[in-house]
Amino acid sequence: MELVAASTHRRTFPGLLNSKGLSLRRRALSTLQVNLGKLCNQACQHCHVEAGPQRTENMELATVEACLRLARDANVTVVDITGGAPELNPHFRYFVSELHKSGVQVIDRCNLTVLWEPEQEDTADFLAKHQVRIIASLPCYSEANVRKQRGSGVFDKSIRALQKLNDLGYAKGNLVLDLVYNPVGAFLPPDQSTLEATYKKRLREDFGIHFNHLFTLTNMPIKRFAEALVRQGKYEEYLDLLAGAFNPASVDGLMCRDLLSVGFDGKLYDCDFNQMLELPLAAGAKTIFDLDFKRLENAPIATASHCFGCTAGSGSSCTGALA
Ligand code: SF4
Ligand code: SF4
Repeated sequence: MELVAASTHRRTFPGLLNSKGLSLRRRALSTLQVNLGKLCNQACQHCHVEAGPQRTENMELATVEACLRLARDANVTVVDITGGAPELNPHFRYFVSELHKSGVQVIDRCNLTVLWEPEQEDTADFLAKHQVRIIASLPCYSEANVRKQRGSGVFDKSIRALQKLNDLGYAKGNLVLDLVYNPVGAFLPPDQSTLEATYKKRLREDFGIHFNHLFTLTNMPIKRFAEALVRQGKYEEYLDLLAGAFNPASVDGLMCRDLLSVGFDGKLYDCDFNQMLELPLAAGAKTIFDLDFKRLENAPIATASHCFGCTAGSGSSCTGALA
């Protein structure tokens, strides 16, 4: 069931932008966000990718090569690699090595526990050697909250993985280690800088862990999270909360303005959330194989009611608060 498209929510996202004298168009492409597949060693309750150990969708080599060509031709500055657990894709290391050679900043969206999976024992060393920036999900500094969202055993493995990354030089020199927080329920995240200070204190004092930044993300009303809201009869209430907290100052920094999202099968989207909803790129090209990146600038962006999640409160993007 397509929950977002089926919503009867009375206010549309473009309508709200219009009422504030705002519009949403693309700028020049600077970031490629590439989803390498849906295979993951975890199966988290809130996962908007609906990833898990049984999923078999993985990006093939020809599509990886097309991403490399686009990154070079369009001169993108950042390639942000997601999944599932992207490290489990057989072409992950080739992709990262080639990007590193061409001087692009590479981000690995790492769930931390994957670093303890069989045949992944040297992945942390590989990431450090290629100066990959790691953005890791850690929904809380307390074990009880992490267990509630991600299942038992995840917290301990995550803590040990963070300690290992620190030992390799992450968050100490040039190697960047950022953490991601998202609320456990249907509410907006707290102030990012205040929460970052608490995370830093607790992780340092309790486990000797250091990291660079904490990004607070709003839970998007899509996929597993939306289904849970519908079951609880809270879907419309949550959309009202997001729409009511609309912050015009967040619109300029919305990630869809300079990012292109590539699915494991090469299909294109304006952002990762649209990818999960199969809402195609508004600029026209269906796949990375028929894209003319020069036509992206000033193109429209496909939006729907889930976009209220990006503009609520302090705003939300893959790199945290916007305003
Ligand atoms: S670790 Fe990430 S990709 Fe994997 S199931 Fe959890 S939220 Fe989804
Ligand atoms: S959900 Fe995607 S398209 Fe909508 S505002 Fe957020 S980044 Fe832009």
